[in-house]
Amino acid sequence: MSGAITGATMVAGVAGAPVRHSLSPVIHNAWLTAADLDGVYVAFAPPADGFRRFAEGLRGGAVRGLNVTLPFKGEALAAADIVSDQARAAQAANLLVFESDGAIRADNTDGHGLLVAFASQAPGFDPAAGPVVILGAGGAARGAAAAFLAAGAPEVRVVNRTLENAEALARDLGGRVRACGLDAAQTAFAGANAVVNATSAGLSGGQALDLPLGAAPAEAVIMDMVYTPLETPLLAQARGLGRRTVDGLEMLIGQAKPSFAAFYGRPPPEALDIRALVLETLETRR
Ligand code: NDP
Repeated sequence: MSGAITGATMVAGVAGAPVRHSLSPVIHNAWLTAADLDGVYVAFAPPADGFRRFAEGLRGGAVRGLNVTLPFKGEALAAADIVSDQARAAQAANLLVFESDGAIRADNTDGHGLLVAFASQAPGFDPAAGPVVILGAGGAARGAAAAFLAAGAPEVRVVNRTLENAEALARDLGGRVRACGLDAAQTAFAGANAVVNATSAGLSGGQALDLPLGAAPAEAVIMDMVYTPLETPLLAQARGLGRRTVDGLEMLIGQAKPSFAAFYGRPPPEALDIRALVLETLETRR
């Protein structure tokens, strides 16, 4: 938002519960100001059992679209009339667009953000060069698995606390996905091209997973979707072992870019150092 709100101001936002600490308003409003666009990006906290009603009320496009975060990504998918391949594969939507004809379009840009983060922080990384390990079997893991499969990964090994959830993911995404429990992590890491943490373990200082990272090859890239703290125990362990790392903040920014374009009709301005700005925000919140 670069000036006063007018009748022409484009409105978009993020919906989640809790949503107060979401970084998405920081990112999108900074881009709006830098691009001098008449737009604003706000945070919504629908009641836990009221997401569907909330989304239905936005049909018609007065609000252009929403990013959707926990715990509503599954309900966002269910609320949509038009679903992208990425959202269908992830069985979760992090982006809803409200078309002027009343339709709701669902997409999932998390997988895109993940691959963009690898390209920027692990230059030369080739997703097709070997098996990828994904820790977790929730919506973020599904999006990551689908993105790596689409990018040519020969095998995706899904390692999850609850084996049944990993098996369900493998069933849904097909023959190149293998499922195992956390007790088989050591075997899964052998020969891996990348290891991606898509669990919520370790979030905001919680107990992180204790993983046999040393079993992954020296050239494997280690990525953590969790970005609070930015250097998670997993990334610290990986750096200690000399592995290249990719952080969750780069993914967050990567998934936000196509959302901005969907809401405001143009890509975000490249000139602004959005990562530095978000890091500053995180620092002031500590
Ligand atoms: P879900 O709730 O759908 O899935 C959570 C996953 O974490 C499940 O596989 C669950 O295992 C596992 N898990 C939770 N706690 C533990 C634990 N203590 N030990 C082992 N496994 C555990 O969440 P999402 O998939 O939506 O998100 C996962 C993470 O990714 C979150 O931390 C989220 O913040 C992050 N994320 C980051 C993004 C970014 O842009 N950086 C984008 C999207 C997500 P089980 O099946 O056994 O319950």
